[in-house]
Amino acid sequence: MQASRDEYFMGLALERARTGARIDGAGQVGCVIVRGGEVLASGHTETEMSHDPTAHAEIVTLRRLGRRLETTDFSGCTLYCTLEPCGMCSLACVWARVSRIVFGAARSQAHSLYFDQRHYNTLDFVRDAFNGNIQVTAGVRSAECAALYEQPGEAPDTAREEQAPRAPVVGGSAETCLYVADLDRSEAFYTRVFEFRPVFAEPGRMSALAIPNRQMLLLFKTGASVEARPGRGGVVPGHDARGHIHLAFSIPARQLPAWEQRLDRLKIPIESRVAWPRGGHSLYFRDPDGHLLELITPGCWPD
Ligand SMILES: [Zn+2]
Repeated sequence: MQASRDEYFMGLALERARTGARIDGAGQVGCVIVRGGEVLASGHTETEMSHDPTAHAEIVTLRRLGRRLETTDFSGCTLYCTLEPCGMCSLACVWARVSRIVFGAARSQAHSLYFDQRHYNTLDFVRDAFNGNIQVTAGVRSAECAALYEQPGEAPDTAREEQAPRAPVVGGSAETCLYVADLDRSEAFYTRVFEFRPVFAEPGRMSALAIPNRQMLLLFKTGASVEARPGRGGVVPGHDARGHIHLAFSIPARQLPAWEQRLDRLKIPIESRVAWPRGGHSLYFRDPDGHLLELITPGCWPD
């Protein structure tokens, strides 16, 4: 009973984490605080968006709960977090008299980005300093939670925890290529409309634009990359494509009206609007080569 309740509320924390992942400047750690079977507050990491190094998901949620209940005593509350709370958040729970902490992914399952050498082991920390005051449950829906915090290029630290072997993780699509008739015209379009940042160019051949979240849009002049290209680091195979390609860029739902206005201001006709059955919305339009572009809000695809 307790276990299934924990799984249910961790699912809500996972939803918050996924919401955070879609918001620029937010983070994909999710938290909900529950008392008597009722969710009283929820939140995700907001450190970058609010320029607040303490705005971890747990702190954001504790603050929200304090404002709602107009108290600092959260006795009887259980805090669910998708990632093992850091020392700061563990101690905040102690100050708040949270009765129980339940977390999903452990430190050992997360990319080192999320923790550094100064991290306190939450379990030891709470047990040693505040013996018996607070109960900690680890590993609820841990695989789903951990999947949020692994990144390619670094294996999780498994030394501290026995784990079943797992498939290597793909962190997302790093590059998308468009083949265009006029490099300058296309670069101007993508920097003007989307404010993608040019970071590298080979005149007459290609231009690399940075999309937020470490993705690259590579513009190649059609026909200029058909031959393999030997370089100092190795051979880049030839590649090229014909016809129109489709690119969809994700946007937060609340920015849909702003994008409609922007496209209108830039005199870029919207070819179609779609409201998806799950709740997402899409705007379709074209770039100068006729490639089909889409701006899409969450809710088209299953999470
Ligand atoms: Zn924290």
